[in-house]
Amino acid sequence: MKWFAAVEEVRRFSRAARQAGRRIGLVPTMGYLHDGHLALVRALKAEADVVILSIFVNPLQFAPHEDFERYPRDMERDRRLAEAAGVDAVFAPDVAEMYPVAAETYVEIPTLSARLDGESRPTHFRGVTTVVTKLFLAIEPDVAAFGQKDAQQAVIIKRMVRELLFPVRIVVVPTVREPDGLALSSRNVYLGPEERRAAPALWRALQTGEARIRRGERDPAAVEAAMAGVMAAEPLVRPEYARVLNLDELVSVPTVAGRLLLAVAARVGPARLIDNLCLEVEGDTVRPTLP
Ligand code: AMP
Repeated sequence: MKWFAAVEEVRRFSRAARQAGRRIGLVPTMGYLHDGHLALVRALKAEADVVILSIFVNPLQFAPHEDFERYPRDMERDRRLAEAAGVDAVFAPDVAEMYPVAAETYVEIPTLSARLDGESRPTHFRGVTTVVTKLFLAIEPDVAAFGQKDAQQAVIIKRMVRELLFPVRIVVVPTVREPDGLALSSRNVYLGPEERRAAPALWRALQTGEARIRRGERDPAAVEAAMAGVMAAEPLVRPEYARVLNLDELVSVPTVAGRLLLAVAARVGPARLIDNLCLEVEGDTVRPTLP
């Protein structure tokens, strides 16, 4: 497995592979790899001949009061996991490599970025779209994978790719969970044992929302209240939101129909956790979907 820290090197590697007729796949991550990240790698192994995994904790997507400094990092462990998963090359630049001068050039979709998580994290998605643009320009992938876990991010990236005419196909991979339903996340390491036991309340809330819809509930406010109630019943969970939104526009819906995002966020101890379910509702038919 190759390891690059410089844009010029990874670009040379990617271009040489492309010239040899290979399809390049990119999995952007912030490292501290878990099985969710590796599911993205596995999905791209089927779509690309060469899989490049990027590891970069992007300061631009953290607000000053957020966890940029203490975000978990372990490059040795990441190297082992990436290699075992069949990654062909890791691109792990430092901040000076990705931001040689202080960032003033941004890529932003102001509407979608202000909704949902953007309400409490107003500069987060601008940081994501800007860094993903830079990774696309550095690596020039044919296909890139993103997780359903960060559904708003997947919606925004897909919109950005369409709008900017990036020649990159986006693959969205279903959320990988612990046996008790907790979505895998690098931030789960922030949870103490009691908090870890409480955290699956987010998943139970989503399942409750889906069950209500399957039993015929078509009032979004009733579904939201049911989800919020499940989280509120868990003393260590401080709910931030429980929403039923249109999956493509991330806006409220008048009735439970169409492509929907059931999204929850809560603070559990020092961690802010998010989770979601994507459903397509057509009359009485309810089926899972993806951004
Ligand atoms: P991160 O390192 O947290 O920025 O995540 C990198 C990529 O992995 C993003 O596209 C995430 O949506 C995706 N991802 C993170 N956790 C999961 C999970 N539990 N299941 C599937 N994909 C995930």
